[in-house]
Amino acid sequence: MLHDTFKHRGMRKKLVETLRSKGIKDEAVLSAINAIPRHLFLDSSFLEFAYQDQAFPIGSGQTISQPYTVAFQTELLEIKAGETVLEVGTGSGYQACVFGEMGAKVFSVERQKKLFDKTKKFLSQFNYRIKVFYGDGYKGLPAFAPFDKIIVTAGAPFVPEDLLKQLKIGGRLVIPVNMGKDIQEMTCIQRIDENDYEKRLHGQFRFVPLLTDKAND
Ligand code: SAH
Repeated sequence: MLHDTFKHRGMRKKLVETLRSKGIKDEAVLSAINAIPRHLFLDSSFLEFAYQDQAFPIGSGQTISQPYTVAFQTELLEIKAGETVLEVGTGSGYQACVFGEMGAKVFSVERQKKLFDKTKKFLSQFNYRIKVFYGDGYKGLPAFAPFDKIIVTAGAPFVPEDLLKQLKIGGRLVIPVNMGKDIQEMTCIQRIDENDYEKRLHGQFRFVPLLTDKAND
């Protein structure tokens, strides 16, 4: 059961104002965050942390990204209703719901089997167009490519070639790329034509690492 209360809605409004004050401007992003009950994505014992602007552990050694980071990446992608989005790193499923709430069709890949199973089941309660896949995000999802937008929600050691190839012309990839130990540069890459890409950098962030191969742990 999806349980949302007046109190939670109030806390969410405050979170949205915090994100606005930190520079998030895309109203569609802010209204998606205002709509999604983030407290349901955390274990119930951590409810009081759900609407603070911080990352949080979700089990299997993984985290739900900080709301500001979710908003920042989503804003860079300039999501429009009807677009197809590939997400690498499903995690809690929160980011996927933000895209879903904005009217996108989402394909999300997770490499941790336990987390994949849990989140797949959890997401089935929502009426969003989200499909989750158990696999290695470095490879993308060639069967469903090309995508309008691609997001990577873990720190990548490099920009995977397969992801670039799965972008539509004019499409965008937003990916945090390692620039040192435990620190990434937010990178936005637009595909200009078949072989040309334009890259822009957007400051430093911290993510859990993008790992190779599937995991059963
Ligand atoms: N988008 C998530 C945040 C996820 S944290 C959310 O909204 O909650 C990053 C996620 O990437 C973790 O769940 C981790 O297991 C996953 N991950 C790491 N390497 C991966 C890979 N190669 N392919 C797919 N998922 C990966």
